[in-house]
Amino acid sequence: MYIVQIASECAPVIKAGGLGDVVYGLSKDIERREHTVEIILPMYDCMRYDHIWGLHNAYEDLNVSWGGGSVHCSVFCGWVNGLLCFFIQPHSNDNFFNRGCYYGCNDDFMRFAFFSKAALEFLCVTGKRPDILHCHDWQTGLIPVMLYEMYKWRGMDSLRVAYTIHNFKHQGIAGSDVLAATGLGNEGYYFSYDRLRDNFNPFGINLMKGGIVYSNHVNTVSPHHAWEARYSDVSYGLGHTLDVHQGKFSGILNGIDYNTWDPETDEFIPHHYTAKNISSKAKNREALRERLLLRNDKKPIVAFIGRLDFQKGVDLVHHSLHYSLRRNAQFVLLGSPTGKEISDRFWSEKHHLNENPDCHLELAFNEELAHLIYAGADMIVIPSNFEPCGLTQLIGLRYGTVPVVRGVGGLVDTVFDKDYDENHEPEERNGFVFYQNDQVALESALERAIGLWHYFPDEFRQLQKQGMEYDYSWKTSGKKYIELYDFLRDK
Ligand code: ADP
Repeated sequence: MYIVQIASECAPVIKAGGLGDVVYGLSKDIERREHTVEIILPMYDCMRYDHIWGLHNAYEDLNVSWGGGSVHCSVFCGWVNGLLCFFIQPHSNDNFFNRGCYYGCNDDFMRFAFFSKAALEFLCVTGKRPDILHCHDWQTGLIPVMLYEMYKWRGMDSLRVAYTIHNFKHQGIAGSDVLAATGLGNEGYYFSYDRLRDNFNPFGINLMKGGIVYSNHVNTVSPHHAWEARYSDVSYGLGHTLDVHQGKFSGILNGIDYNTWDPETDEFIPHHYTAKNISSKAKNREALRERLLLRNDKKPIVAFIGRLDFQKGVDLVHHSLHYSLRRNAQFVLLGSPTGKEISDRFWSEKHHLNENPDCHLELAFNEELAHLIYAGADMIVIPSNFEPCGLTQLIGLRYGTVPVVRGVGGLVDTVFDKDYDENHEPEERNGFVFYQNDQVALESALERAIGLWHYFPDEFRQLQKQGMEYDYSWKTSGKKYIELYDFLRDK
């Protein structure tokens, strides 16, 4: 099969969160199964060029009709750990991808609508006819719309679209100017509720809704979140649309790339280990302390790694920091704040705790440090408000770092409480789970985890090993995507 992924991220070149990991890890798995996969991405000025091999101009004259005129683009091509990637670089005064950031601009809708159109135009004029276009999140929601309404008439009627929603919170609600710019036009047609009109904002078109309505299949990234999306409020207003399209909606659990995330070979950690010699993990704890100037003491390290965002439960992250310090543990936070208010709050906390030898707050995105924290910490806390899948608990498990999580979304599918999980035998349990979204609930789980470390170290070690024995690689999930692609192309 021939699959083209179109996305706004692909690790390690472009990564703001889990989307980048998934596009990369899934593509690697598809390639391992001997299918052909290519990835189309925007050519951001701030991406990690050092991770691209053999970057060269592959297509000089891509002209994309846009806003009544035409935008001239170059398409670069290069390999990211062996994966063939195409990067679209528009030459226009809008400077869509020369902003020093991936997201967060006022015209993000235009930037990614343009990218979507340019990706289709590139496939169209180069004669590339994949069996499957796999699109991700709102940034590429217009692709199935434009494919069906415009490009199908230009020899692209054989393509089928799989659309994956990694986060329902960000849907891309835009004005009619996007319709005009892309050339879709015909406001009346697209502004109908069974097409793109937002379910709550009658003046907006919803790009993610377009992806749902027009794709051949839609999935989110865990079975439990697929259920939540339909039956609770975590689909942020798209529940009805999912209900209408329930026959083509599913949940497929994310995996992680076991070559990137492997404590036996990880190039960013000083001491390698496996479940069998997990005692070597303690040396990474020492290395982490040394790097972050934490005191060497007989206490566990609790970590948080992630975007500092409402989604991640920042209030409870903040509380877990102070609670851990009170309960004789150390705390390490690696977080990228997503807004000014959250940023100010954690910067002020960082200054306040500057002299404390038991905690460190690193307010940045730092891939290398993340690896060392996964290896050096004893527990990872994930108190999310909602979590479509969550990768940090999967990476934590792989590194023997016990997850302490709120039971939502993909966390329910992957973490099983040591003391209370009734669906798993004691030897299958791998972490600590709490459900209520409050401090008391968090404390009940964190206290059990820290207590186990202090008072029952053998049991704690056993729990770490049980977590490491889980297989959350792409082995199972990749197979599910291949089966899905196969099913779609026969339709
Ligand atoms: P998200 O909602 O951000 O997609 P996930 O748990 O699915 O959350 O994926 C997060 C990914 O991003 C993981 O690989 C995690 O290690 C990484 N990550 C998040 N924040 C940071 C950071 N500040 N520095 C380094 N890596 C980070």
